[in-house]
Amino acid sequence: MLGSMQDLPLSISSLIEFAARHHHDTEIVSRRVEGDTHRYTYRDAARRSRKVAAAVERLGLGFSDRFATLAWNGYRHLELYFGISGCGRVVHTLNPRLAPEQLVWIANHAEDQALAFDLSFLPLVQAVWRQCKTVRHWIALCDEAALPPASGIDGLRSYEAWIADESDARAWPVFDERSAAALCYTSGTTGNPKGVLYSHRSTLLHAYAGALPDALALSARDSVLPVVPMFHVNGWGIPYGAAMTGAKLVFPGPALDGKSVYELLQSERVTMAAGVPTVWLMLLNHMQQHGLRFDHLKRTVIGGSACPPAMIRSFRDEHGVTVLHAWGMTEMSPIGTVCNLKLAQRDLPAEEQLGVLAKQGRAVFGVDLRIVGPDGQELPWDGQTSGDLQVQGPWIASAYFKGEGGDPLVHTEDGPWFPTGDVGTIDADGFLQITDRSKDVIKSGGEWISSIDIENVAVAHPAIAMAACIALPHPKWDERPLLVAVRKPGAAVTREELLSFYEGKVAKWQVPDDVVFVEAIPLGATGKMQKNKLREQFHGHAMPG
Ligand code: AMP
Repeated sequence: MLGSMQDLPLSISSLIEFAARHHHDTEIVSRRVEGDTHRYTYRDAARRSRKVAAAVERLGLGFSDRFATLAWNGYRHLELYFGISGCGRVVHTLNPRLAPEQLVWIANHAEDQALAFDLSFLPLVQAVWRQCKTVRHWIALCDEAALPPASGIDGLRSYEAWIADESDARAWPVFDERSAAALCYTSGTTGNPKGVLYSHRSTLLHAYAGALPDALALSARDSVLPVVPMFHVNGWGIPYGAAMTGAKLVFPGPALDGKSVYELLQSERVTMAAGVPTVWLMLLNHMQQHGLRFDHLKRTVIGGSACPPAMIRSFRDEHGVTVLHAWGMTEMSPIGTVCNLKLAQRDLPAEEQLGVLAKQGRAVFGVDLRIVGPDGQELPWDGQTSGDLQVQGPWIASAYFKGEGGDPLVHTEDGPWFPTGDVGTIDADGFLQITDRSKDVIKSGGEWISSIDIENVAVAHPAIAMAACIALPHPKWDERPLLVAVRKPGAAVTREELLSFYEGKVAKWQVPDDVVFVEAIPLGATGKMQKNKLREQFHGHAMPG
């Protein structure tokens, strides 16, 4: 016997319609590439998303055809999210920080039919548009007056003219909730990037889970600033979660420097923000330099790479802001774990709490985790034993777009598991701690050194802004750690001083053999340190002794 409940498919269009009905006057504020600030409400966003849907249909795109975006976080990008997915097409967020040839490869692989871009990316689009074989429609995210007169791009039109005459009253089509809704390619440091194709169902379930109190705790009392770009795993799902809960949205546009982010956090009374550690580093440095305080910010989600405990401490002790350290990946929509204390941990001394909060956190309902050894057997949750991390759940990829790379899953008696490529421990309370990417682990004399642990100590030094620890081959120990570090502007620290800073913080044999100071560490398109580049750069580096 089946239950007798309404069998309505989960759909992305329902999010914006809900927000328009129940939070109609809640604001969406965007810093625009044009340089000004734009304000409107969920009611306006829904109205214009419907116009986008009608305009997409008029282009003649087929069901599930891909429509690409090349855009910063802003209201027009939001309308494309809802308009494209809502009418059964797939919004494909391209990452503008990729090299032009990678972008072309991805657009061709995705068979994008249309591409909408912020005017700041005009030179990039001018360089690549002829090579994007399947793109038939080019749309600049601006009004007609701002459209460049001689762009050289065939048929280029302005977004505002494109949607101007469409109806804003139409009803959204109803279709299978498992239909494809959005496409995002992994950052893929090796080989070609692979596409992850989200469905309406996976996106909605992820949005529900992401809004839970022990996840991002989104609510109608929040003003939310996703610094994380909407081209990085759908802005970690925040645009959907905000519409679901009626949270005010604040979009930073292209201005991601410390000063701009700080001003926006203050002026829009932002209570919750989200981004990768490098963004917060810029913000905290700016605030330190100018002696600034937050008046409204309560919590910030930090993920995408390991958040150094020193950053969590600085937010907590200097600014009264709770860091929610989160872990996930493109293949996981992206949320897997978020770090929040449990009841029994609330009375722990502040220092011990920090030890917990520095971990990547507990699984959100819907995601299951396990760590396995080389034989595939599950390892204990003792907070000590580390193993390969595997995950399963309804918003985790079962395959890559077009079946690229074959079946990625590990099939065992208890179902299919996705191998994350991360290595970590899980403690008795279920807190995951990522110790490394499997390819970044340093193996010295048969023992593993966590590169993240070594980096965390370095960035806790007051003179260090950023640090990466990589393995170099060693004749006796197999591999030994090399620390590559960036000093804070105007700060001085020597190799010897930095190495002695490790005393008592890690085992003696884990202390790096050498330190190299550099001007900058190469960052990938999603703000992660590119250790493969560093390994190439320091290949053959002579370690002392
Ligand atoms: P992406 O698919 O580009 O979002 O990258 C996902 C990968 O980023 C994960 O598999 C981890 O290696 C890394 N990552 C994400 N969040 C964290 C975190 N909080 N701590 C450590 N590594 C992280």
